[in-house]
Amino acid sequence: YLSVNNIHKDFGGLEVLKGISFGARQHEVVSLIGASGSGKSTLLRCINLLEIPEKGEITVDGKRLPLSPSGRGHRHITNKRDVRLFRASLAMVFQNFNLWAHMTIRQNVMEGPVQVLKVPKAEATEQAEALLARVGLFDKLDAYPAHLSGGQQQRAAIARALAMQPKILLFDEPTSALDPELVGEVLAVMRDLASEGRTMVVVTHEMGFAREVSENVVFLHQGRIGEQGSPEQIFQSPQTDACRKFLASVL
Ligand code: ATP
Ligand code: MG
Repeated sequence: YLSVNNIHKDFGGLEVLKGISFGARQHEVVSLIGASGSGKSTLLRCINLLEIPEKGEITVDGKRLPLSPSGRGHRHITNKRDVRLFRASLAMVFQNFNLWAHMTIRQNVMEGPVQVLKVPKAEATEQAEALLARVGLFDKLDAYPAHLSGGQQQRAAIARALAMQPKILLFDEPTSALDPELVGEVLAVMRDLASEGRTMVVVTHEMGFAREVSENVVFLHQGRIGEQGSPEQIFQSPQTDACRKFLASVL
């Protein structure tokens, strides 16, 4: 369903991703774990085309990512509209919520559907309210992000991602900017999404979540896949020193 094949990315000579391949079946949750700097965010950003990989291919639901044919020289995006639609099929939730500060959360959730998907306003409003109710924010529809707690902001960001009806949800450490007492409410929403069969790729330091919720765990190490497997394999019998060391440092 998601297939990432031999992705390479460098920043001015610094090779950050050195040939990454992994996949996710539909309805599957894949957790990406690894030390700081191992390339987790860069990989998610490549999948979402926030960064253009120098090499490699990404396919979502049979659709190849709209990049110019590979070869030497720089790749570029072939068609802006294609890219917007491709990105819309892969909604991303960031560590720092990234809500639009000058809009209420209802407006935050409606914006993408209205601007990108061309959903009529009345319909987008109704949908936004239903999604915000679902993440427990029905009483905050008219609040601005600055007046919400971190956990509420992140739940609003998840509602905003869902409003785009994405095929895949990408999460980049969605709980690591939160005070400890607010982590649980966001993980609860994510568990709920997993149990309704959403396809998700989650960069996380929450090993409990990775272990319980994901079908597959991918351990990144210095820009390569150090190891991947079921949560049992990765957490109970890691095969590499690097993975054992990483787990010892976070568990
Ligand atoms: P963390 O757990 O700290 O979030 P990460 O695994 O997400 O780490 P990345 O953010 O993907 O790591 O960074 C991987 C490497 O790429 C780092 O060495 C980082 O400095 C470098 N890097 C990331 N983005 C850029 C950029 N835009 N320009 C230059 N270097 C970058
Ligand atoms: Mg990161």
